[in-house]
Amino acid sequence: MSATDWESNEELQYFREYLRIPSVHPNPNYEPCVEFLRRQAKQLKLPIQVYYPANEQNPVVVLTWKGLQPELPSVLLNSHMDVVPVFPENWIHPPFGAEIDEEGRIFARGTQDMKCVGMQYLAAIRALRKSGAQFKRTIHISFVADEEMGGRLAMRPFVDSKEFRALNVGFGLDEGIASPTSEIPVFYAERTVRDVFFKISGTAGHGSLLLPDTAGEKFSYILGKIMAFRKVQCERLANSPELSIGDVTTINLTRLVGGVQSNVVPPLLTAFFDCRLALDIEIHEFDAHLHKWADEAGGGIEVEYEQKRGHIPPTATDETNPFWVAFKGATDHLGLEIKLQVFPGGTDARYLRKAGIPALGFSPMSHTPVLLHDHDEFLHAETYLKGVQIYQKIIANVASV
Ligand code: ZN
Repeated sequence: MSATDWESNEELQYFREYLRIPSVHPNPNYEPCVEFLRRQAKQLKLPIQVYYPANEQNPVVVLTWKGLQPELPSVLLNSHMDVVPVFPENWIHPPFGAEIDEEGRIFARGTQDMKCVGMQYLAAIRALRKSGAQFKRTIHISFVADEEMGGRLAMRPFVDSKEFRALNVGFGLDEGIASPTSEIPVFYAERTVRDVFFKISGTAGHGSLLLPDTAGEKFSYILGKIMAFRKVQCERLANSPELSIGDVTTINLTRLVGGVQSNVVPPLLTAFFDCRLALDIEIHEFDAHLHKWADEAGGGIEVEYEQKRGHIPPTATDETNPFWVAFKGATDHLGLEIKLQVFPGGTDARYLRKAGIPALGFSPMSHTPVLLHDHDEFLHAETYLKGVQIYQKIIANVASV
């Protein structure tokens, strides 16, 4: 395709129009997205519902294509409408301009994360409807707010609502990540977030003395244990080419709070750690280690959690999950190279999995540098359009299970 073809392509025009809506944190205004999606629904002749599971600022928009057997569990195609902040001075193109350069690269916040996927779902459905296709299962296409802030104001309460239960979702698709190679990751699980902090009490006093049991000594012991654990994970990752970051446990000291002045030994130090536990770790054993280290450090230490998510079972990727079989059948048919992975961060798919709904994270962006949350986020027009074709096959397969 040439530059004029990219400019005149109907699907690229819709994608770029959606990208130009600055639904950006903090405090995104989603109303222009909702209005845009209402026009899409009208164009597609599909019913649309807008829910507000937490408050009036955070909508969940659902378009529905009813299946021939609507009593069967449905398929949910999910994407989020919000995008992360930008630093325009670091961009070579305006971050909400959706400009196409001479190579065909479309620049905008959200081209990868994840306005692309939301529009590719609709483009695929537009093509399928034009072809006269009809499927067994009902398809819901959802566009949610607040994913980038953790989904507390949209996906999380939505999944718990009676409106969501009425959708009778049996399988969900959500976001993946771009891939610089030909291999596209498919995410079937996420690590378990455990944000822990240690409130370390110790002997306070003058900085000129050698007091026993100071908070600093206790902190040093705990930090030593945690860094030793961390080093093992670093080595595993470095020495095992088959492992990705999502396959190992990460732990990082993120905040250290305490003290009043330089010559006073403080009575309290608080140390915060970001922990993301891989699937091979028993959560209760990990917690027990943290408590053991706190005891060994000399006591007077409280172990608390800022975030303490429980284990969420991964989505099955074998013949016990017919939706996986259908998904894999589509990617095999298209000759795509896929690689099963554990998502390194968090996505809204975890709320589906938590509710017992199998869900896969997938964004068809091969040969694309990973630029989510980065400056100059872009997606090539041809990659976008190829993704539309990929979704046509995937949607056809999973809606026919
Ligand atoms: Zn995202």
